[in-house]
Amino acid sequence: MARRTKIVATLGPATDTSELLEAILRAGVDVARINFSHGATDEHLARAGRFREAARRVGKFAAILADLPGPKLRVKILAPRLLTVADVIYFSLSDSPVDATGLVITEPEMLADVRPGQRMLLDDGRLQLEAGEVSGGRLAARVTVGGMLQPNKGLNLPDTPISIPAITDRDREAIAVAARAGVDWVALSFVRGPEAAAEVRSACNAVGLDVPVLAKIERPEAVGKSAAIISAFDAIMVARGDLGVELPLERVPTVQKTLIAEARAAGKPVITATDMLDSMRNNPRPTRAEASDVANAIFDGTDAVMLSGETAVGAYPVEAVSCMHRIAVETEVYLRRKRVPSAVSESNGDIDDPMTLTACALAGEVGATAIITPTLSGRTAKLVARHRPWARVVAVAPTEAVLQRLALVWGITPVRMTPVPAGGDRMATAVQDAFRAGILSPGERVIVLAGHPVAGGPRFPTMRVVSVGDGGTSTEP
Ligand code: ATP
Ligand code: MG
Ligand code: MG
Repeated sequence: MARRTKIVATLGPATDTSELLEAILRAGVDVARINFSHGATDEHLARAGRFREAARRVGKFAAILADLPGPKLRVKILAPRLLTVADVIYFSLSDSPVDATGLVITEPEMLADVRPGQRMLLDDGRLQLEAGEVSGGRLAARVTVGGMLQPNKGLNLPDTPISIPAITDRDREAIAVAARAGVDWVALSFVRGPEAAAEVRSACNAVGLDVPVLAKIERPEAVGKSAAIISAFDAIMVARGDLGVELPLERVPTVQKTLIAEARAAGKPVITATDMLDSMRNNPRPTRAEASDVANAIFDGTDAVMLSGETAVGAYPVEAVSCMHRIAVETEVYLRRKRVPSAVSESNGDIDDPMTLTACALAGEVGATAIITPTLSGRTAKLVARHRPWARVVAVAPTEAVLQRLALVWGITPVRMTPVPAGGDRMATAVQDAFRAGILSPGERVIVLAGHPVAGGPRFPTMRVVSVGDGGTSTEP
């Protein structure tokens, strides 16, 4: 069975050769994430270019997701540094160190808001400090949980109200690079409310980048406003790394379930991210708990599962992707047998939604192996996918950009549509294209669902049951 859950892999030094990129694509990667918090412009551009070439060679429509830094504080050190319990360290309130051992962070003005006794958490909470007083242009902090601090790790201030804008200058610079790299998705970190969607869209449009935008949910405010954020953005990520530091850790599993359910009901894709197979950075096999974590996110209904350090800096990037693929396939076999997850049944009010739900039900009734949607924007395919049918959802679209961004959505197989002359049958063309792409075999029964069944013709939402004939023709069922 073809896997329905999508796999996102973060690119980095561990996956910087064409061979490795081809290998992770063949192992199952659908979306490459480039984290603009790490690495230089040249590296981002080179990674994007190499990934595109690799995807072309592998013959796969895969997406590139640019992950913007957002107002995230990071420690600017050049070499790892050991922090020992009870040590007092100093953070500069400006961009330059106050003394030789002082730490400098991105967005240093934020430190002026920190009050004595507040928590300062480093590296997704692995190291912890307690803030002291500000004096002489620096903030003192005492180490409460020590360890090795690696360069460029994040600093979270869960007790301190944030007052920096949703999109920083660094984000605008990153968006300009993302535009040059020709990415398919832009993700914004530390979203606090729905207004950020319009801001990030206009920042993208300002540099000619017209792509869907994703909100990373990792702040308590965002959890509180999740419904509005989901409706304003095109997708969300359950960014568990920062979420588990900004919120009490024990809330992460239930917040994950709630966010996934809300995103699915809204028909927006959702990525579950961070630490999924983290031990595979250093080991060829994950822990049992990690394997269960991937499976449970799929039980929750996530569209995609994500690898971070495992593929960016890990020793076993290809193994991590294959392992995730195998867990996903096994989980889906189980779900399919148990007939879960059940379809999202509440309609969103427009005519296409009951059509897509009916298509899924009909596919089950007539034993259709695929639901084929000729589409321009991919919207119909996404509406079908949100019902999680076990028939394969094939999105047949004319433009590469649309096909690439659909790679993130649960169950969707993107296929390029050949041009249909005006008055031509788009539904038959879509079946033919899916056949030529090797997705259908003669004798299979499929459902075709189209808003515009005739090229250039009026919008008549139409459903067709077809038997695939020799050569991919549409014959009577
Ligand atoms: P975020 O909050 O956006 O997830 P992060 O620092 O947790 O930021 P990840 O993308 O989750 O970063 O990656 C995990 C770790 O892998 C990073 O902390 C960093 O050490 C390493 N990493 C990721 N991308 C790169 C890269 N391009 N170059 C070097 N190291 C990287
Ligand atoms: Mg992370
Ligand atoms: Mg984060």
